[in-house]
Amino acid sequence: MNLRLTPEQESFRDEVRAWLGRNMPRGWSARLAASSDIPRPEAYDLLRDWQRKLHAAGFIGLTWPKEYGGRGLTFVEEMVLAEEMALAKAPPVLNILGVGMAGPTIIAYGTEDQKKRYPPKILSADEIWCQGYSEPNAGSDLASLQTRAVRDGDYYVINGQKVWTSLAHVADWMMLLARTDPDVPRHKGITYFLLDMHLPGVTVKPLRQLTGDAEFNEVFFDNVRVHESQVLGGVNNGWAVGLTTLMYERLALGFGLQVRLRIALAGLIEMARRMESAGRAVTRDPVMRQKIAQLWIDTECLKLTGARAITRLLKGELPGPEASAGKMGWVDTHQRLQELAMEIQGPYAQLMTGSERAVEGGLWQHTFLRSRANSIEGGTTEIQRNIIGERVLGLPKG
Ligand SMILES: Cc1cc2nc3c(=O)[nH]c(=O)nc-3n(C[C@H](O)[C@H](O)[C@H](O)COP(=O)(O)OP(=O)(O)OC[C@H]3O[C@@H](n4cnc5c(N)ncnc54)[C@H](O)[C@@H]3O)c2cc1C
Repeated sequence: MNLRLTPEQESFRDEVRAWLGRNMPRGWSARLAASSDIPRPEAYDLLRDWQRKLHAAGFIGLTWPKEYGGRGLTFVEEMVLAEEMALAKAPPVLNILGVGMAGPTIIAYGTEDQKKRYPPKILSADEIWCQGYSEPNAGSDLASLQTRAVRDGDYYVINGQKVWTSLAHVADWMMLLARTDPDVPRHKGITYFLLDMHLPGVTVKPLRQLTGDAEFNEVFFDNVRVHESQVLGGVNNGWAVGLTTLMYERLALGFGLQVRLRIALAGLIEMARRMESAGRAVTRDPVMRQKIAQLWIDTECLKLTGARAITRLLKGELPGPEASAGKMGWVDTHQRLQELAMEIQGPYAQLMTGSERAVEGGLWQHTFLRSRANSIEGGTTEIQRNIIGERVLGLPKG
């Protein structure tokens, strides 16, 4: 594995860095963090404009083929971009589920019409996507999903419910898994639909999270009529198509997150230098120093696991179980980092956004609470361990 960039990749890094220097929206993180004071739609408008700017500059969809709006570059450039965005503390990409998951799956399985129709609007943020997989009785055991799609002429009629659907309240399209054949083994009767969220019969109800934000939702389908041209990858082939989306989800997670973890660690160290505990700087406390050093070691290991995953991709191989190990390692390190941030703040940890004396405006409290979801979203930690147990260690199925 060679971690050095080629001269072309170095000049790509310079191009991204210079562009970010000129185009970053000023003060965006303070505006988003104070989201209880600012209506969510305003935050989404800011993020939508930001994605449009990135798109116009050619920095979205780097690895996608040129004919579908991408740049035909490699995952090394994608990693460089993620690093530069994190270093510049740039806003996230709003249509992350479209760019990271829906687009690549449509490019892999779509008809030529579908590939021309959807990917360009995903990149430009003209159409936002969400992922309709989980149901009240189908999360880890996704194959037990019960939302039904029944054929009626050229249409499918959808009835059922999804839950925990991130961004459904702003989404125009959903990656929907629904049961089209209840009489065959569970995995074989599922179809993947590209569902227009504005169709009659689709109802979205936001769910409030621990952080106070409502960024995920319940979605109800009441006789929603979807044209057969909206099936992706063939009727009853939804399990294979759906797993492809999950593979891209782990990839998308893997790239940005370990870089953001390194930035969060730098922020934590800065805070620890400023805070005092029992009359001395926190950084002089031997136990705290041990914990911070361990976080640095774990973060460096994650960086190398990420590099290993990229090497596989560059060789044309699919991501292997290191994607599960990387996700778990990231969750564990990130949650420990957020817990340590609270420990460093001591009694101040109780002061949230809105309190004058909150450390750094209460940003750490928000990220601490949000980090609790990390071990659930994108496949729980127990499920990742099962994957490692079965596929790496060859243990029998539980
Ligand atoms: C912030 C957030 C955003 C999300 N966004 C989306 C989204 O956009 N779209 C979407 O479709 N879903 C989304 N989800 C849902 C997420 O994918 C599910 O919550 C997750 O897959 C777990 O499913 P569940 O909640 O039904 O829990 P369950 O599957 O009921 O699990 C409950 C507990 O049992 C454990 N468990 C279950 N099965 C096993 C097993 N075989 N062995 C060992 N332990 C087991 C689990 O690890 C967990 O601790 C989101 C979740 C969160 C928290």
